[in-house]
Amino acid sequence: MSARGLKPIVLAIDGPASSGKSSVAKGVAKLLDFDYVDTGAMYRAVTWAVLEEGVDLTDAAKIGQCAQQVAPELTWSADPTAPRISIGAVDITHAIREPNVTAAVSAVSAVPATRAALVARQRNAVEAAQAAGRGVVMEGRDIGTVVLPSADVKVWLYADPTVRAARRVAEDQSAGRASAVGVEEMAADLARRDAADSSRADSPTRQADDAVGLDATHLDLTQVIDSVVALIDAQSTETNLTSKEQS
Ligand code: C5P
Repeated sequence: MSARGLKPIVLAIDGPASSGKSSVAKGVAKLLDFDYVDTGAMYRAVTWAVLEEGVDLTDAAKIGQCAQQVAPELTWSADPTAPRISIGAVDITHAIREPNVTAAVSAVSAVPATRAALVARQRNAVEAAQAAGRGVVMEGRDIGTVVLPSADVKVWLYADPTVRAARRVAEDQSAGRASAVGVEEMAADLARRDAADSSRADSPTRQADDAVGLDATHLDLTQVIDSVVALIDAQSTETNLTSKEQS
């Protein structure tokens, strides 16, 4: 049972860039004492390695090779209060948020070999949590559709593009990543990344048919977290009723 007495379930949160997925996923995981897995950080980690190696971003074969090498060396913390990611002994938690990685990540994540290597690690993380009796919150673009199609609860989190861009600019500034990008330019960057991520052939960003859409445009973080926890509550109640009916 979680800190709030909820069953350890698997929660998938997907949505476009900067819709607040990470803050919401971390908040829910913290509240319920669930593991937290940021799959975007994994795609960023592979992208960081691809850039370090000087691999041409149009060379899918080389990108795929690099991903297959890096994926087994990735380690991350599932603790939502201290998310960190490393390749071997190199901590790249901050490096993966830099603009060069953000600009290249869609090209790297569109390569099927990259996805195959990382999806395997993502599913392993869920199996390990379940074996330990822990719930999991996993966020990304294809969690409800591809990685965990039988997740207990699926959320599609979205918000007005200008609101997303403004939040992202503020977040970058407070993290000291002020790249002098204004809201308009950020909105264009997010739109470019969303278009690339949702038009790729392998696992495009898409709302799963059974995901609940949550519009965060006019909600603050606490309100979104409360809405997600209410969905988990409702799912737990439904499961209890169904198992009583069957017994
Ligand atoms: O979530 P974040 O914005 O950090 O993700 C960075 C990029 O990683 C996305 O723009 C997308 O290209 C890729 N990604 C993906 N599938 C996921 C998570 C992220 O392709 N499940």
